[in-house]
Amino acid sequence: MLSRRTLIASSSLASISAMLPGCTSWRSDSSNTDRSRLAKTRVMVIGAGMSGLAAAKALKDTGYSVFVVEARNRIGGRIWTDQFQGGFIDLGASWIHGEHDNPLAALAAAHGVKTVVTDDNAYPAMFDASGLAISHVDQARLYELLKQVRKTAYGKRSDPSFAGKSVGFACIEALRQLTSSRTISPAEAIGVRHLLTTEVEGAYATDLDTLSLAHWGAGKWFEGGDMLLPTGFGQLTDALAKGLDIRRSTRVEHLFHHPGRIVAQMGDGLLLSAEKAIVTLPLGVLKAGTTKFTPPLPATKSDAIARLGVGTFNKVYFGFKSCFWPPSSTWIQHAGNAPTSWPMFFNLHHYTGAPVLAAFNVGAFAKDLEMKDDAAIVADGMAVLRQIGSKNGWRVTEPTNVAITRWSRDVVSRGSYVHVPVGASVLDLDEVGAPVGDSLYFAGEATSSQHFMTTHAAYLSGLRAAQRLANDDGIT
Ligand SMILES: Cc1cc2nc3c(=O)[nH]c(=O)nc-3n(C[C@H](O)[C@H](O)[C@H](O)COP(=O)(O)OP(=O)(O)OC[C@H]3O[C@@H](n4cnc5c(N)ncnc54)[C@H](O)[C@@H]3O)c2cc1C
Repeated sequence: MLSRRTLIASSSLASISAMLPGCTSWRSDSSNTDRSRLAKTRVMVIGAGMSGLAAAKALKDTGYSVFVVEARNRIGGRIWTDQFQGGFIDLGASWIHGEHDNPLAALAAAHGVKTVVTDDNAYPAMFDASGLAISHVDQARLYELLKQVRKTAYGKRSDPSFAGKSVGFACIEALRQLTSSRTISPAEAIGVRHLLTTEVEGAYATDLDTLSLAHWGAGKWFEGGDMLLPTGFGQLTDALAKGLDIRRSTRVEHLFHHPGRIVAQMGDGLLLSAEKAIVTLPLGVLKAGTTKFTPPLPATKSDAIARLGVGTFNKVYFGFKSCFWPPSSTWIQHAGNAPTSWPMFFNLHHYTGAPVLAAFNVGAFAKDLEMKDDAAIVADGMAVLRQIGSKNGWRVTEPTNVAITRWSRDVVSRGSYVHVPVGASVLDLDEVGAPVGDSLYFAGEATSSQHFMTTHAAYLSGLRAAQRLANDDGIT
């Protein structure tokens, strides 16, 4: 996910409790009598991503008997740190979005995890479709035009003639007006379209045409810069997981839920039971219906699941022997004629010193790219770097290491993160997060209209589910 500067409408939040609407305030330091009662209540948490681990830790700290079942042989879910060229890369989330009041910033600080605020306001090294550099003066004009386009399009959210339209429709309409009034040249129009990809499609992981205009900018965001974790985001999930009972390689295929009795059935027939459960299955998995619920989930929830969308955001890490690109630019951007084709490369070298570039692709282009084999993907991305290099005197070399993600083909993720498509509502997220009775609770990045898409959304949703469960048990 990219910088939050792209997400219009932001508001500052003061405290964690204010971030958990609909719950009675709750302390995890329950009394001794409560603790012995709670120790007899077994809670199954399905999924060991950020939301599941946050929920499991909060409940364990309160005194519940908790275990986590996780389909993969690793924890973290869409947080996935791997080793690469002697350092670390994140194949899922990279940034804590918004450093002020963000509970994950506090978690990182508490565990001594190194963070660096990335400079997203500096000009990128930007190149046009033929590979020629776009000067800072020309970029300033493009960013100014982008501002106008976004403002015009954003202003149409409540215009009845734009009802049921997409963000793409409104932006392209605003861009067309600028072009027909000759305010903008055809080359500038390509540049602005490119910025719509890096600034909007990159943030939402989906094409502009799929995003609901009416719900554009919904949700709350933390103020301040975005924090990169150069030694890996996985340190945060590792910290939460300490001391938890986690059953890896355990994939729930069928969940039977009745008041006070939950039974999960795995593919190999293994049955696990508990009194209560917190489900953190990714929205993509819920949409695919690969985990059955008996009785079926309420129609209000399954309809909301069907309406919401899951986009594709993929990374290709290219490791080289040495850095041949501008070493101190945070981003290298390619304003090609096909706007979503290899639009941006994040320069890890600037933050870690390692000669590594991370290409980010999003939306339909990224999903199609997943179908190609590794060699074809690498060749495709390197062609862009070579074209830019040939016009700018770079000595482009072959990569020595690559790492490629395919989040949409990953059957226990089925996409990168949620967005609100045309025809859906941001309130659908609350429906996905609504408990079913007082034994089945839901958490995950796609379960709240207040915070969604992000790691902090996942974290807060896990705390919210734990809090609801404890509230229903009379723990306040
Ligand atoms: C490429 C990419 C980049 C991103 N960048 C950022 C970023 O920079 N900043 C940010 O804040 N967010 C970012 N995000 C989003 C962020 O990673 C997610 O919002 C967050 O990690 C989701 O956490 P979760 O707990 O809701 O889901 P998950 O992490 O997906 O956890 C759910 C878990 O359930 C498991 N599971 C699935 N099916 C089953 C089953 N049947 N039985 C048992 N277990 C099952 C999964 O394996 C997974 O471990 C990015 C995501 C991607 C993919």
